[in-house]
Amino acid sequence: MGTSNTKHCIFCEIVHGAGEASICFEDARAMAFMDIQPVNPGHVLIVPREHHDSLNEVPEDLALHLFHVALKLGPVVRRVARSSDLNLVVNSGEAAGQNVFHYHVHLIPRRLGDGFDIPLPFAGSPMPDRTLLDAMAARIISELRDPVRRVTRDTVAVA
Ligand code: 5GP
Ligand code: ZN
Repeated sequence: MGTSNTKHCIFCEIVHGAGEASICFEDARAMAFMDIQPVNPGHVLIVPREHHDSLNEVPEDLALHLFHVALKLGPVVRRVARSSDLNLVVNSGEAAGQNVFHYHVHLIPRRLGDGFDIPLPFAGSPMPDRTLLDAMAARIISELRDPVRRVTRDTVAVA
């Protein structure tokens, strides 16, 4: 089931009961367990039971279901971890920092001064001229409207 899973997948092993994990939530389509190297106590990974490499391959209804699970777990994890804040993080693809290629959502309780950072706005980026931002927005609007060229989530051509 799902996208290519010919390689060894640690999360598939966990889903199939062959790998050790501290599971905190299960339903028919998803599981959540504690990250083995948590940013903070309470760092949870939410995964589909079905193997999909990354966000590009996950069926939309499944991706939405995982987000729903994250919304359900968020307040509970914040309470248990005694943390008012959290990050929901998806690293999709190698360039985006994904290390385990079984799609997953990180739910990371945050504390002031914990040293973890997703540095946005990115200090290395200049603020482009408004015309460039408008041009990019216009290109996206045009792609969304064009029924012929409209790309599906797994057919994006990389320039
Ligand atoms: P990624 O970089 O792919 O978004 O994140 C992978 C996450 O999986 C990391 O936070 C890492 O600590 C966690 N991880 C890697 N191997 C295992 C494992 O065997 N068990 C668990 N519970 N977490 C793992
Ligand atoms: Zn897998």
